Amino acid sequence: MNLKNLNKIIEKQPAFRKKQIEKLIYQDLIEDWETTTNLPLKLREALKNKTSLKINAKTFTGKNTEKALITLSDNCQIETVLMKHETRVTVCVSSQVGCALGCKFCATGKLGFKRNLETEEILEQVLFFKRREKIANIVFMGMGEPFLNYNHVLNAIKILNSKNAFNISKRRISISTVGILENIEKLGNEEKQINLAISLHAPNNKLRTKLMPISKKYPLENVLKTANKYVKKTNRKIMFEYILLNNINDSLEHAKELSKIMNHPLYIVNLIKYNDTKEFKASSKEKTKEFKDYLKKRSINVTERYRFGKDISAGCGELCLKK
Ligand code: SF4
Repeated sequence: MNLKNLNKIIEKQPAFRKKQIEKLIYQDLIEDWETTTNLPLKLREALKNKTSLKINAKTFTGKNTEKALITLSDNCQIETVLMKHETRVTVCVSSQVGCALGCKFCATGKLGFKRNLETEEILEQVLFFKRREKIANIVFMGMGEPFLNYNHVLNAIKILNSKNAFNISKRRISISTVGILENIEKLGNEEKQINLAISLHAPNNKLRTKLMPISKKYPLENVLKTANKYVKKTNRKIMFEYILLNNINDSLEHAKELSKIMNHPLYIVNLIKYNDTKEFKASSKEKTKEFKDYLKKRSINVTERYRFGKDISAGCGELCLKK
């Protein structure tokens, strides 16, 4: 798909025409401009020549999960994951081609960084699945760090939220960040409805820096200070993601440290089961239960994320363009 030229082509069109085109793409889900006989011929021809609606994707189907490997117009590739919960469908989108942050447990980090995605390339991922399923939720938890592509991510959310386009409530959209502090503050000032998740993965800065080198630039203490400011300002919850890695961050000592920094009514710890790699293994069921129980007993809000995508390399930290 290539909608980069769309704005240029329609900039001189009247507002009603722009709305009509947006609706054709994102609601009527047209895949070919040929079918839009209600558009003036000249405009239709320009759109046909300059704005392809074909999405070049290869899909992988697993239990409750589908993964799309999308090839963009410059041949860069990204992955997007559809997760089917019992009553709703969530799309996990990528915000960058690759990622520069190199978290040790993450396959995307090993690819390195190529470029930020354009607004339309973020929307293309959701559109791909919307052409097949009714989408309820969007999470920015795919490839890349969304807050290092803040403007395109927020622009895409505007269109995801637009009644004339995807019509998805902002409260059903979540952004997950490693903790790019200035943009957590920015979000708190600009957008109070979008859900915020912070990847924590360790209860102290020493361990977190080993797992997530970005902690050198944004130490845990500062992430927590900024999170606190954010909840004071917005009165919104923050989800803190914690991947449980066997013998790395899953002891009761770690749970004790975590319980001290997560003791806030608006903080929720989300325990995530890891999909094993050469370097790291997932914590056992027993250890996970002990860890969770420890937090619960200390009145920490804690949830455990159902593991999606294990069978098709589409789980957390596994997106690496494996075909
Ligand atoms: S976990 Fe997220 S921020 Fe870290 S390397 Fe992977 S994609 Fe980048």
